[in-house]
Amino acid sequence: MAKGLLLVISAPSGGGKGTILKELFAQEENLRLSVSATTRQPRPGEENGKQYFFLSREEFETKIQTGQMLEYAEYVGNYYGTPREPVERWMDQGRDVVLEIEVKGGAQVKKLMPECVSIFILPPSMQVLEKRLRGRGTEEEATIQQRLAKAREEIPHAKEYDYVVFNDRLEDAVSDLRAIIHGEKLKFSRNTDSIERVLEHA
Ligand code: ADP
Ligand code: 5GP
Repeated sequence: MAKGLLLVISAPSGGGKGTILKELFAQEENLRLSVSATTRQPRPGEENGKQYFFLSREEFETKIQTGQMLEYAEYVGNYYGTPREPVERWMDQGRDVVLEIEVKGGAQVKKLMPECVSIFILPPSMQVLEKRLRGRGTEEEATIQQRLAKAREEIPHAKEYDYVVFNDRLEDAVSDLRAIIHGEKLKFSRNTDSIERVLEHA
């Protein structure tokens, strides 16, 4: 069985990752979402093991030291990281795995697993980003300002990614993401076994 794709998806906070991925998962059944670990506090409605595994700094550092994190980074004062085991298991089972991570983590994964597919989601403008971030209503004003400053730092890293998806109209962003996934699956390098099978009884 062909190994699944590893999809690394980044966007500035408020860029629309959560919204786009919810729709993508409703349309693509072979996908699995990696649940990250973090030391930040849960937002209202977030549950341990669902959006994140919420850990103390000590618990997180133990997981780093024992090699249980595929990648990790500090973001606005907290650790965020990808537990390694489920990602490897799902890929071996032929599932396509989505990592929704920031740019430093994205760079680590690209180095470790160069066959991954990296996608950067961009808002149409900084004004729209600010409006959406405020409209979400989940952060204090100071945190919004921190996240906007972080977005200005992160957006230039879009050039290190394989693809860019513009999140203007939601439906277009989702269909662009699906087109990328489907195109990647048709790459010659991911189909060598099937090509050999075609020639087997030639
Ligand atoms: P992220 O997960 O990247 O931090 P969210 O998915 O939470 O971002 O999106 C931030 C806010 O912007 C949310 O309130 C969401 O409803 C809104 N939003 C996201 N994409 C669009 C879009 N294409 N058009 C209008 N609003 C959007
Ligand atoms: P939030 O606090 O808004 O949920 O996430 C803040 C940032 O951390 C987002 O850019 C998000 O993509 C990133 N993030 C979430 N999980 C991980 C992870 O496992 N690793 C890394 N490197 N970043 C993550």
